[in-house]
Amino acid sequence: MAVPSRISDVLFRRDMVGPSFVKFAATVTGMVLIEKVFMEFVLPHLAGELEDIFARHGKIQALFLLSAANSVVTFWGFGALMALPAFVGASRWKIQAGKSLDLQMLQSSMPLIVFNWLLGIILLPLLFAHFLPESSFDWRSPPSTQTLVRDAVVWLAIEEVWFFYSHRWMHMNKQLYAAVHKMHHKWTAPISFTAIYCHPFEHLVSNLTPLVLGPLVCGSHLAAISIFSFLGVLHTMAVHSGYWFCDDNGMHDEHHAKFNVNFGVLGVMDSLYGTYQLPGGPSQSTPGAASKAGERLGEKVE
Ligand SMILES: [Zn+2]
Ligand SMILES: [Zn+2]
Repeated sequence: MAVPSRISDVLFRRDMVGPSFVKFAATVTGMVLIEKVFMEFVLPHLAGELEDIFARHGKIQALFLLSAANSVVTFWGFGALMALPAFVGASRWKIQAGKSLDLQMLQSSMPLIVFNWLLGIILLPLLFAHFLPESSFDWRSPPSTQTLVRDAVVWLAIEEVWFFYSHRWMHMNKQLYAAVHKMHHKWTAPISFTAIYCHPFEHLVSNLTPLVLGPLVCGSHLAAISIFSFLGVLHTMAVHSGYWFCDDNGMHDEHHAKFNVNFGVLGVMDSLYGTYQLPGGPSQSTPGAASKAGERLGEKVE
């Protein structure tokens, strides 16, 4: 009787386009589920309070307050939790084994990280205040499930395509790489906070634009946008954490280690362009592991 060995390696082949689309679908599903839970069980209790904040402070100031609160919790709160293993020098689950945190380098990187963080919490509210329709701020009428699914598909598709091309462009154009993107790659073994350690031009073009473009194109509800940006920031910090609790199989960490692979977010565009590559790790997985596992699956064990 055939005994499957490492079925996961076969089902989720690391070198195929398919799993990336499956990942895209899974990400949409997960995001919509979280949004639905929030809209059903949390938003009704916050609606009155949110209306008060907007009435008291006006749209722009209220958006600044909410954006700052959301960002303090996600970027500095969850970011600190994700940086803890690096701070204490934990070697278990480290993607690039043997690499440790350079505290002095982190200290010297902080002013730019704080500057880019401020850029985000100032620019996003301004854009949302000016370009979102009034319905985006109607706390008593959350969007339907159909709208949430449509929005999540558009947001993630724009983010994947925009981030991939803008990021790849910054690698392929040597002058641009030297003047702009090289800064982000100073961290060959990143930690959570270095997700936004980059030239402000790159932060605007590659990080903030794909985050706001989808919501503005869709005219999305602000409650849904808040969850998208919350999850987006968590994701980017996790994939820069340097540990296996990242949610991309170590894909972006490998980009920092190798420079010329994994330009996208979900792997869809990289699979299409042949630049999708995952690091080896605790499972000893390599780009060729899937086919080897496939061969093993066919083995007969008595
Ligand atoms: Zn990075
Ligand atoms: Zn890069």
